[in-house]
Amino acid sequence: MNFYIYNTMSRKKEKFIPICMGKVGIYTCGPTVYNYAHIGNLRTYIFEDLLKKSLEYDSYRVKHVMNVTDVGHLQSDADTGEDKMQIGAERENKTVWEIAKFYEDAFFKDCKKLNIRRPDVVCRATDHIQDMINLIKILEKKGYTYVSNGNVYYSIDKFKDYNKLAHLSMEELEAGSRVEVDKNKKNPLDFVLWFTNSKFKNQVMQWDSPWGRGFPGWHIECSAMSLKYLGDRIDIHCGGVDHIPVHHTNEIAQSEAAVGHKCVNYWMHGEFLVTNAGKMSKSSGEFLTLSKLEEKGFSPLDYRYFCLQSRYRKQLIFNYDALQQAHLSYNKLKEKIASIISTVDESERADENLIDSYKSKFMEQICDDLNMPNAFTVLFEVMKDDELTNREKKILIESFDTVFSLDLLKYDDKQNLRGIDEDEVNRLITERKEARDNKNWSKADEIRDKLSDMGIEILDSKSGTTWRVKR
Ligand code: AMP
Ligand code: ZN
Repeated sequence: MNFYIYNTMSRKKEKFIPICMGKVGIYTCGPTVYNYAHIGNLRTYIFEDLLKKSLEYDSYRVKHVMNVTDVGHLQSDADTGEDKMQIGAERENKTVWEIAKFYEDAFFKDCKKLNIRRPDVVCRATDHIQDMINLIKILEKKGYTYVSNGNVYYSIDKFKDYNKLAHLSMEELEAGSRVEVDKNKKNPLDFVLWFTNSKFKNQVMQWDSPWGRGFPGWHIECSAMSLKYLGDRIDIHCGGVDHIPVHHTNEIAQSEAAVGHKCVNYWMHGEFLVTNAGKMSKSSGEFLTLSKLEEKGFSPLDYRYFCLQSRYRKQLIFNYDALQQAHLSYNKLKEKIASIISTVDESERADENLIDSYKSKFMEQICDDLNMPNAFTVLFEVMKDDELTNREKKILIESFDTVFSLDLLKYDDKQNLRGIDEDEVNRLITERKEARDNKNWSKADEIRDKLSDMGIEILDSKSGTTWRVKR
């Protein structure tokens, strides 16, 4: 099926045409591992996970590469402020290496809880210093760099169409990026490719380079690693919207200058998660992590469900009331699915044409620039369709969940039993059935009331009686 993607470069929804038939290469900018990921960051990784799984649903083979930034990212996305890794190390009285390891592990644990699949290639910046040096050498040879006060800068005036991704004038770009004036730059929008130790005297992470001992700027890692693992023609590159004016703009300038042509065909950007207080960021406001949501009694998949209810290109406002609503509807959905599943008879009809027509309906929505809210509408249609057997419903729900990844079929009623004796419940249900068969309605009602007092709700259907714990 045709897959449509909103391309930030053209600001249009475009039909996706892969470079290689049936295959897709995706590069996504990964975490800076100096602190826990906040739930805004995680929204972006959920969006990228949905993209990958939707393409797979449409039969593409996906190669997904993600970097881990463990060096070179300063407080601003441009070249100002302190080094983020060092801030983490000082805060926790640990080495930068310990900080990087700890928060990288924490990040992947969060991803696992959110059913975000690990990328095929996870590449750390510090393992690719030589690749970055090689790339800077190419840029130097081609005349795109200059050295000033010990640092190697990229000269954006040498690159045609520097602002083509951001669609901003040079003045607007400048206004957005300038926090401190760096007198060493020829153009305020120039950026550092390699810092020598002239920038931070106590910089622990340092490597030898042709320009002196030092460390790379932030942007060069993504150019070096995307070119290394996906080649110089890449299908899709993703990140959050904040990356458009600085990081991705600089990445394009580096990669295209080095290889001499366009490298990325589709740029996709996830909008921000915001709170009523504004943008969620690691340095301001309440720092909301996944563990914090768990402490408040929410499951990670409540949060995934919450994110899936809106489109990735829209800002999403987070507050606990909205998350509570998501929690309730997610649980209700799983309960309904559980009651469908509990009555599935494996000898029931599973009509392939019917199943395929619903799969196509679902695919149409996810292929429309990841229209998850509409994909849920298809799920609800399936659940309500009396023409479908429960077996067909189960097959479809299972199939849709390969994209949603909400464990829709894993409703574990037992975890909600709260000390209820299952054998006793089943015995009473059998007793009630006997009473009903004997038309002893008062006894049947009496048993129903008894079960209700025990916190059990019973559901009668054509195929029998099922039960669940009341909420
Ligand atoms: P960082 O670890 O800061 O490099 O960010 C990791 C990813 O999260 C990047 O793709 C950012 O664009 C994205 N991001 C940062 N803040 C938010 C937010 N509030 N909502 C959604 N995505 C965000
Ligand atoms: Zn990046």
